[in-house]
Amino acid sequence: MVRECDVLVVGGGPAGLMAARAAAQSGADTVVIERHNEIGYPVHTSGGSWIQDMRDFGVPEHLFHPVDGCTFITPGAQATTQLPPNVACVLDIRGLYQHLAERAVHEGATLLVRHSADSVIFDQDAVAGVGVKDHTGQRGEIRAKVTIDATGHSRRIAVRAGLGEGFHRHAFGAEYDLYAPNYPQNHTYFLMGNTFAPTGYGWIFPRGAGRVRVGVGVIQPDTKVDARKYLETVMGLDQFADVFKGASPIEYHTGLFPVSPPLKEFSKAGLLAVGDVSAHGSSLLGEGIRFAMHSGRLAGEVAGEAVSTGDSGASFLAQYDKRWRAQWGKTMDISYYIGDKIIGFTDDQWDRRIPMIEKMSPEQVIALLRCEFDAKLFRSIMLRAPRLAARGGKRLLQMALDRL
Ligand SMILES: Cc1cc2nc3c(=O)[nH]c(=O)nc-3n(C[C@H](O)[C@H](O)[C@H](O)COP(=O)(O)OP(=O)(O)OC[C@H]3O[C@@H](n4cnc5c(N)ncnc54)[C@H](O)[C@@H]3O)c2cc1C
Repeated sequence: MVRECDVLVVGGGPAGLMAARAAAQSGADTVVIERHNEIGYPVHTSGGSWIQDMRDFGVPEHLFHPVDGCTFITPGAQATTQLPPNVACVLDIRGLYQHLAERAVHEGATLLVRHSADSVIFDQDAVAGVGVKDHTGQRGEIRAKVTIDATGHSRRIAVRAGLGEGFHRHAFGAEYDLYAPNYPQNHTYFLMGNTFAPTGYGWIFPRGAGRVRVGVGVIQPDTKVDARKYLETVMGLDQFADVFKGASPIEYHTGLFPVSPPLKEFSKAGLLAVGDVSAHGSSLLGEGIRFAMHSGRLAGEVAGEAVSTGDSGASFLAQYDKRWRAQWGKTMDISYYIGDKIIGFTDDQWDRRIPMIEKMSPEQVIALLRCEFDAKLFRSIMLRAPRLAARGGKRLLQMALDRL
């Protein structure tokens, strides 16, 4: 089988589906292939996100669950922040990804499930499509003017096309999705420190109707510990005995997230690399869904422009790199930088710093969690929490400021 199209998207995650929709909207004949049987399954993410972004993307309200309480726990301390209502949320991952798929198809994209790309087709130096194994096991080719690699952490196409290497460092996360009828459905927890998650953190995210995601992520190869074992520690903490009373896992998820600054290049002739493939998420918190959606949409727009102008050469497609860097470059640079510094905190360092969160305003906490860094934010935090300055935090913040 040889199939031809204008834009081929490999991977039906949030980045690929947004890319497909934008490309199809521009009038390009667009095909998406997804190796799994279903869009949004298996789940390999927790879905913590932000309501305004989802509304801006036109995501229906029933696909996210608002949360407003947030407690940060370390082995010897804790701090709670009450966020304003309708700011933070936990996504219905399968529902959201299916919705994004439907919207892409509605715009005219063709979606091929259980189709897996395993090789790259070149036309001289330019990427001209991929080799595919379909749902019957038959091999074929899909040729395209622009191929978009949206395969996530594996960078399946980009690596084979010579656009950077595979990731050497990543967060490995393990998570239960519980039915927990006694859990307060508006409250989230973050657990930091070596006792709970060496080099990473644990989380508890309720997602509505009694369902709660409890997970632990650690960074490899920085640590050799197994996140799956730490997940059992978090599940068994006395502190949660009441809220987990009568609870039981309904699903088990695992996943990988790149811990890397954004890659040097996101495009080459005939190819764009989106979402986790280019490390477009924030490695400070391991947040990647909305960033994947932004990056996918931008890539789909650029691919559509390339098709309509008849130019899918390297310099035309490099517009994608420029536009992404103009919007997100500094944010992701600073996120990576701060994340890398706090990864090595001892339990004692976490115990001393976490209580300072209660000195910050909810808006400051939100800006930090959302990675909305600017000089005003850093200075206002130093004013509200001057003890941070006395404990080495000033140097860290100043170095981050220097990157702005
Ligand atoms: C444990 C964990 C928890 C997380 N929690 C959060 C969170 O709370 N909030 C948040 O915003 N982010 C979170 N993230 C990050 C988030 O999941 C990613 O940033 C996001 O999924 C990236 O989207 P993507 O579309 O780039 O890649 P993916 O979501 O990985 O999608 C890639 C798609 O490509 C398909 N694919 C791969 N190879 C092929 C192939 N050869 N052929 C065809 N299809 C292929 C895959 O099956 C998949 O569907 C978490 C990550 C992990 C690991």
